[in-house]
Amino acid sequence: MAEFSLDLNEEQRDLRDWVHGFAAEVVRPAAAEWDEREDTPWPVIQEAAKVGLYGFEFLATCWADPTGLSLPIASEELFWGDAGIGLSIFGTSLAVAAIYGAGTPDQMVEWVPQCFGDIDSPTVAAFCTSEPEAGSDVGAMRTRAVYDEATDEWVLTGQKAYATNGGIAGVHVVTASVDPTLGSRGQAAFVVPPGTPGLTATRKLRKLGLRASHTADVFLDGVRVPGRCLLGGRDALLERLDRARSGQRATGQAAMRTFELSRPTVGAQALGVARAAYEYALDYAKDRVQFGRPIIENQAVAFALADMRTEIDAARLLVWRASWMGRNNRPFTAGEGSMSKLKAGEVAVSVTEKAVQLLGGAGFLRDHPVERWYRDAKIYTIFEGTSEIQRLVISRAISGMQIR
Ligand SMILES: Cc1cc2nc3c(=O)[nH]c(=O)nc-3n(C[C@H](O)[C@H](O)[C@H](O)COP(=O)(O)OP(=O)(O)OC[C@H]3O[C@@H](n4cnc5c(N)ncnc54)[C@H](O)[C@@H]3O)c2cc1C
Repeated sequence: MAEFSLDLNEEQRDLRDWVHGFAAEVVRPAAAEWDEREDTPWPVIQEAAKVGLYGFEFLATCWADPTGLSLPIASEELFWGDAGIGLSIFGTSLAVAAIYGAGTPDQMVEWVPQCFGDIDSPTVAAFCTSEPEAGSDVGAMRTRAVYDEATDEWVLTGQKAYATNGGIAGVHVVTASVDPTLGSRGQAAFVVPPGTPGLTATRKLRKLGLRASHTADVFLDGVRVPGRCLLGGRDALLERLDRARSGQRATGQAAMRTFELSRPTVGAQALGVARAAYEYALDYAKDRVQFGRPIIENQAVAFALADMRTEIDAARLLVWRASWMGRNNRPFTAGEGSMSKLKAGEVAVSVTEKAVQLLGGAGFLRDHPVERWYRDAKIYTIFEGTSEIQRLVISRAISGMQIR
């Protein structure tokens, strides 16, 4: 087990500085343009692929860090540059994590490279689980997967909502119910290979924030995928269904654990947005003169900045703790993964709101990036489990009771 230390090692410091450099030089200068265009920033994704920030090798290097801190460090820096572009670059990792978490070694070898495409012409991937009637209530999923024994194919039918990269992705990873009587325990994940007939999507949904990131509803109309596209394989699925039908406990509540493990990384993205807004507001408060002195010389302003910094640092400690625990197989007995995402998401919302306030009228204008950060921050109390769902996970963990 790796020691938990707040002293970053040399590799982590190099990673942080390298991603920060990319965020400062490539991402941030492009952020306003792609936010306005509400379009996928393909040139930036290409640049990220070229320098090695977009691709499985990069993710694998981060995952290999025994402290678990590399991915949150990289995420914070990239999303400090811009959250919409950041999600365009890191959104693929949701699908990759699903393949990595549920797939067999053969499936990883076959599908993971296809999620990213080539360095010269990168592709993106989508992870589609939310549905119009099943957001927080994952067990209410209606998309069905039916096995066709004659052709050894799975037939997927249903609708997915709000999929990041939905429709523009090559690989779509789709969750579906194979046995609706079992709720979330009757669900499985499938790879839908690029170009599969029957998968269509709406045009890009128009959003409050993260406008550079593509979000769309995805329709599955009798989509046929080969048997090998069922992640984990059919034998493992049948065994899991048998266990659920005979009332046995799910081993380690696999789906829950996957979510808990990915939440600290999403919290780290929120931290990047919060830190960007805090740094900008700090500089502004030192420069802006009213009543003959910089506004930071008023305690009300300085204390607001002190609170912003304190909250960001507190949230980072929770994110790093959960990342370290997840990587070192420490059980989240108090919902520590959810705590990290809950705190970081709410800090991002409050810090960006304070930053707008500290800039006064300038904070409300598109001439300054804080209005964009304020719009982007809000997603972090909504996706990957809303703040209420995080509180539900934590309260169930600390009480051992079925809180509703
Ligand atoms: C920009 C964006 C990108 C997204 N990307 C993806 C993606 O790539 N893949 C994907 O599958 N999904 C994605 N989502 C979907 C996202 O995960 C869901 O929107 C989220 O889980 C909430 O579900 P919902 O919108 O249906 O809200 P609902 O579940 O309808 O919730 C509405 C409100 O009710 C509250 N609520 C619900 N149940 C309870 C309860 N038991 N106790 C207390 N309060 C409760 C919620 O907290 C919320 O405030 C994305 C969403 C957005 C906006």
